[in-house]
Amino acid sequence: MPASLASRVSGPVFTPADAGYAPEIAAFNLAVTHTPELVVGVTSLNDLAEAVRFARERRMPVSVQGAGHGAYVPITSGLLISTRRMDQVRIDVPARTAFIGGGACWGPVVAAAADHGLFPITGSSPTVGVAGYLLGGGLGPLARSHGFSSDFLVGATLVTGSGEVVDTDDHPDLLWALRGGKYIGALVAELRVRLVEQRTLYAGALFFEEQHREQAFRRWVDWTATADPRVTTSVAFLRFPPLDVVPAPLRGRRLLVLCFTYPGDPAEGARLAAPLRAAAPVHIDDLGELPCRDVARIHNDPTQPMPAWVSGLALDRVDPDFATAFLDHVRDTPFTGIQVRHLGEATRRDAADGSAVGGRSAGFVVSYASPDPSLFAQVLPDASDRLMDALRPWTCAENNINFIGRPRSAEHFATAWPAVTLARLAQVQERYDPQGTLGHHP
Ligand SMILES: Cc1cc2nc3c(=O)[nH]c(=O)nc-3n(C[C@H](O)[C@H](O)[C@H](O)COP(=O)(O)OP(=O)(O)OC[C@H]3O[C@@H](n4cnc5c(N)ncnc54)[C@H](O)[C@@H]3O)c2cc1C
Repeated sequence: MPASLASRVSGPVFTPADAGYAPEIAAFNLAVTHTPELVVGVTSLNDLAEAVRFARERRMPVSVQGAGHGAYVPITSGLLISTRRMDQVRIDVPARTAFIGGGACWGPVVAAAADHGLFPITGSSPTVGVAGYLLGGGLGPLARSHGFSSDFLVGATLVTGSGEVVDTDDHPDLLWALRGGKYIGALVAELRVRLVEQRTLYAGALFFEEQHREQAFRRWVDWTATADPRVTTSVAFLRFPPLDVVPAPLRGRRLLVLCFTYPGDPAEGARLAAPLRAAAPVHIDDLGELPCRDVARIHNDPTQPMPAWVSGLALDRVDPDFATAFLDHVRDTPFTGIQVRHLGEATRRDAADGSAVGGRSAGFVVSYASPDPSLFAQVLPDASDRLMDALRPWTCAENNINFIGRPRSAEHFATAWPAVTLARLAQVQERYDPQGTLGHHP
């Protein structure tokens, strides 16, 4: 069987017996090991289409992995299509559009656009896959000023579950679904993303030491009520390990990290950031004018694979009582990091021609994680339940799939979209993948 697929594609095909199998199936989350029957490393649109047709003919389920940052549940059967080799990035400068391969990650897109004074509405991490991220909507450092990243998606070439090559220009329902719908009955070969003219940001992070974390957090919560619509912020309670690889001022400390992004001139940025700088004594001030190509420095997300247990929820609003409930949990949390991102403004406005993304009505998203596998079975799920219970009065009914982490049930998964959107997504899947080759929303 592997030989018959290998004769149809130019990329490599591996079974579990092959040495190339383990690196090909590896995900960013080292706690997840995929074990598909076959994995194919597609290199082109033709490979992608042939791989889907091959699986469809045999009624094999198909999964897809790009940069691998979305792996929470192991893939244990069928054909895994690995898109990492489809990592081409081309910038059409006059059209201010990036043409991005279905397996590319954000870092090279940001770098290629910056060469022309252009900027994509990227996520916080340079190693996250563009396709996986945009299929979940995408809430990045410019969320409040520019909205969901998927609003900037203007087109794509796709392979449907039926094995047909299609373009969203001829299939507007697929463009709608692609903007945040996640499972859309088609795989992405190439994306077209609108870029903005931007060379620098006023952006970075303020670090507050343990004894000032609660004051800084409470002030931030108050500040969000009247925050300027052009500013996007987040706060994260982080426990830095006492390891030599961690920079000395962070090593072994429990800090509050407040990330700030203003896409405008430095003087106005500094004026807007002043109340946050005054929230409490600042341990490290790494906030200032930042070239767009260094956007990943704002959040400094991990770029090396590691084990992770991740979950999250969305909030309608925050207030002083929320701050108290949240801090009660944070004081003895087993999570190494708990982050709250401020949304609203542009995230509430739908793309002109519509989108499937979930979480438009949310005011904030909370995500929390730990890399300690000894806590995965019991301690972290229990702590997550306690946090969700404590935050119930502020919880938004509508979550976002990129922030849900490992779904705990079909009902939990379904909170990532409004019911009406889920129903329309099911119709799109049925149209483009009637046999269910690519897997469906539960
Ligand atoms: C360190 C880190 C930082 C993050 N930061 C942000 C952030 O700032 N904002 C945000 O919104 N999210 C963020 N996320 C979440 C991330 O956007 C999602 O987990 C996303 O799904 C990851 O995409 P991927 O391609 O890297 O993952 P993969 O595991 O490769 O893919 C995840 C899923 O996306 C789909 N998919 C991927 N490629 C294709 C394709 N070519 N065609 C069709 N479907 C495809 C498949 O359903 C696949 O199972 C972050 C995650 C991590 C680990």
